[in-house]
Amino acid sequence: MAAIPVTPQPRPADPSVDHLIQQIVAGPDASATCSADLAAGPWEIDTRPGYGPGASMGDVIPTGAPRQGELPAEYREADDTELDARIRAAKQTLGDRVVILGHFYQREEVVTHADYVGDSFQLANAALEHPDAEAIVFCGVHFMAETADLLSRPEQAVILPNLAAGCSMADMADIDQVEECWEQLEEVYGDMTAVDADGRVPVIPVTYMNSSAAIKGFVGRHGGIVCTSSNARTVLEWAFERGRRVLFFPDQHLGRNTAKAMGVPLDRMPMWNPNRPLGGSDQETLTDARVILWHGFCSVHRRFTVDQIDKARAEHAGVRVIVHPECPMAVVDAADEAGSTDYIRKAIEAADEPTTFAIGTEINLVQRLAAEHPQHTIFCLDPVVCPCSTMYRIHPGYLAWTLEALVAGTVENRITVPADVADPARVALERMLAAKPPAA
Ligand code: SF4
Repeated sequence: MAAIPVTPQPRPADPSVDHLIQQIVAGPDASATCSADLAAGPWEIDTRPGYGPGASMGDVIPTGAPRQGELPAEYREADDTELDARIRAAKQTLGDRVVILGHFYQREEVVTHADYVGDSFQLANAALEHPDAEAIVFCGVHFMAETADLLSRPEQAVILPNLAAGCSMADMADIDQVEECWEQLEEVYGDMTAVDADGRVPVIPVTYMNSSAAIKGFVGRHGGIVCTSSNARTVLEWAFERGRRVLFFPDQHLGRNTAKAMGVPLDRMPMWNPNRPLGGSDQETLTDARVILWHGFCSVHRRFTVDQIDKARAEHAGVRVIVHPECPMAVVDAADEAGSTDYIRKAIEAADEPTTFAIGTEINLVQRLAAEHPQHTIFCLDPVVCPCSTMYRIHPGYLAWTLEALVAGTVENRITVPADVADPARVALERMLAAKPPAA
C-alpha cells in the first residue's frame, strides 16, 4: 500500500481537469461543470467564507475554519508556464531538503511536481522515508497535513500550501460535538470502561482517516482506532472484538457500506445527528445498535447515483463500474465493485484486455487514470465536471509561493498538532497499523 514515487513520463492525453474546466467555461454550455467559478484562481475566494466552488460548495463551513491570507500578486498574476518553471527551479535548489506529496485528487498541474502520489495514509508514510527532509509540502487537505505531522519527526515542518484547503467531510465531526455525543452515550450505556462477560466495553469509537487530529486524539483516549477506506473491515473486526458496538465517524457511507458487507443489519445501524438529542435516536435503538453512524458524508462521492450507473450500462455494453465506498449504499450496491482509490487504480492496472471502466470517484484521479491507460476507455460516472472544492484550493501559485519561501529561509503555512492531541492520536494510528485481518 505504498505511495507511488513519481518518475516524469510522457502522457498520451491531457489529463488536466483545469484545462477541461477552462474549455467548458469558454464554450457554449457552461453547465457541463458545476461552477463557472472553478475557472478562476482559488485566490479569488480566499477571503470569502465557504469551501468555494466544486462539490462541497453547498456544505456549511465551520466558523473559525482556517483562512488563507492573500497570495502575493506575483503568484496570482503568473501564468502556468512561469509557475511551472519557478516551482521546478525552487525544487531543484532545495533538493533533498524538501519532499512534495500529491494526493490522488489533486490537480494535475500540482501532481506533476510531486515526489509521491497516493492517498492520505500512503503519503504520510512516504514522508517517513525522508527523515532528513526539513520540509514536507503536502498538496492535499488539512487533515492529511496533520497526519503527516503526527508521523514525521518534530524538527520537520509539514506545510499545507493553502490553509483554506480543509475537507468538508472531516469538518462534519467537530470535537465538541463528538465529546457531547460520548456524554449522551454514557447516559445510555453507563460506565464506558466496564467490560461484559466477553470482555467487551459498550462502545469502541472508530474514526476514518478523513478526520481532524482532535478526533483521532479523542478516539485514542477512548480505546478506539483509525481506519482507511482500504482497511475499514479489518478495523471494524478489531473493534467488535473489543466492544459491543462501534461509534463510526465522520463518514456514514463508509461505515454503512463496510458494516453491511460484514452482515450487520441496517436496522442496527442508527444515524447520529449531532444537532438532535440522542442523535435523533432513542434509548432502545441505541441499546440494540451495532454501529452508530455519524451524520457525515463526502460531497464529492455523494454526487454519484444509481441513474448514472444505469446510463453507463445502457450506453457501454460490458462496462465495469467501480465506485469508492464513500458513495451512498445504493450506488455501491448497483456497482460491480467498490474500493479505495488504491483499489481502483490497481483494478485498472490489472486489466489485461481493453476494458471500459465507469469510475465513481474524484474527477482528477479519473482523468489521470484515463490518460495513463489509453488502451482502456475510462470515464467518470458523473457527467458534470465537479472536482473536490478543497483539493482545488491548492493551485501551483501556492506551491510556488511556499517553495520559494523555503528557498528564502521562511516556512509558510506550517501545520502543527499540539502534543496533548498528538500523543493519543498516534496511539489510535498505531492500533490501526497493528490491526490484522483474522486468519482465514
Ligand atoms: S474528496 Fe471528499 S473526503 Fe476527500 S478531501 Fe474532498 S471533501 Fe474531503
